[in-house]
Amino acid sequence: MIICTYLFIFIIGAMLGSFFNVCIYRLPRGEGIIFPGSHCPKCQAQLKPWDNIPILSYIFLRGKCRYCNGIISSRYILVESITGLLYLGLYLRFGLGVEFFYYILLFIILCSNVEVIALPARFCLLANLPSHVWPKFLVSFI
Ligand SMILES: [Zn+2]
Repeated sequence: MIICTYLFIFIIGAMLGSFFNVCIYRLPRGEGIIFPGSHCPKCQAQLKPWDNIPILSYIFLRGKCRYCNGIISSRYILVESITGLLYLGLYLRFGLGVEFFYYILLFIILCSNVEVIALPARFCLLANLPSHVWPKFLVSFI
């Protein structure tokens, strides 16, 4: 039963990681989160729901677009896997408290930073406030 709970938390984390991927890719480019629907950035083909299953779709498609055979960035499976593991780790460490959601927000900011190299201005203030948190975050799983 505990394994099912951990698997459920990991799956929820991977699903949210998939959503984070949308935010990471689209927000810095000024694109909407909901519209247009999921599509290949290379050939613009609309993706089917089964092309959007976190982690599994990337593995089954072997990291390539079903329609144009273009390479899908490994960032997608990495963010989904890391987010799933992060959620599981945070759940084990904090439960579903405020700290859990605080660290998830920091993770989103970190991923946005990696994608565009520079933080959007509206995140700078937020990112500067908890500067003491990163070392704590890194050792929180030890
Ligand atoms: Zn494509």
